[in-house]
Amino acid sequence: MQPEEKHFGPVWFIPGANRGRYPYCNSVYIQGPGIIIDPASDEDRLKEIRDREGISEVWLSHWHEDHFTYLDLFGDVPLRICRKDAPPLTDIEVLLDWYNPKQSHRNYWRKVIEDTFRFRPRQPTSFLEDGDVIPFGNVTVEVIASSGHTPGHLAFLFREQGILFLGDYDMTSFGPWYGDLYSSIEDTIDSLGRLRATPADIWFTGHDTGVFTDNGAQLWQQYENVIYQREAKLLNLLATPHSLDEIVQSWLIYGRPREPLAFFEFGESALTAKHIERLLNKGLIEVVDGKYVRL
Ligand SMILES: [Zn+2]
Repeated sequence: MQPEEKHFGPVWFIPGANRGRYPYCNSVYIQGPGIIIDPASDEDRLKEIRDREGISEVWLSHWHEDHFTYLDLFGDVPLRICRKDAPPLTDIEVLLDWYNPKQSHRNYWRKVIEDTFRFRPRQPTSFLEDGDVIPFGNVTVEVIASSGHTPGHLAFLFREQGILFLGDYDMTSFGPWYGDLYSSIEDTIDSLGRLRATPADIWFTGHDTGVFTDNGAQLWQQYENVIYQREAKLLNLLATPHSLDEIVQSWLIYGRPREPLAFFEFGESALTAKHIERLLNKGLIEVVDGKYVRL
């Protein structure tokens, strides 16, 4: 079922098309100051909000394409993001470097980012930093750094409303993404702890269901556990030696091959590589003749 738009005073949850699943996301609108966060939800609704309510600033929780698609609807209004996540917005080649796809998939990705996600280079007007407290009368926004998914990922706490927008820590059954060049499993775990400890009554997420009002503890645990389940499956597989390609072809993350392969094989490989790096660092696996094996 498609989630509905929900208003909590001046803080609006704007559901993305197709349940805010990639290539869409859910947006947040702050009525009054006219701020839209992550404008990749629903083009028609965003135009309507722009025309009826006004949009005077765009904020991004992080640099990913499925959060900035409709930036071009708002002309040159100020754009704000964490300084650490700004470089990919300024140059498509930097964005592709940060994604780190196989060289043979790079042209596919460049075309997708430019055509589907309407990428145009942008320089942020100013930066949002961890601990920033931004008062707007009836809503005070607190900026919470939450690296891992990306180095400069931000969550936003709306104090008076008790709402915490988690960005791409999206509480889906798929689990967290940490497959970019600068993503980190360790930082993801730390950030989940930090966000979980932030007092809130309502949680917004960047994809899927989007609004949670109860059962928080269980959701957090399930979401974090996906990381450990992936690791356990990988360790199991590495009872016998496997190359990275062989591991990827086991589809431990996505469960089965999915189309478009350029997308899913990339994801499978990127997340797997992060787990291998983590297991090597923990001394739980080793490399023998170019293959990984459990110690
Ligand atoms: Zn993301």
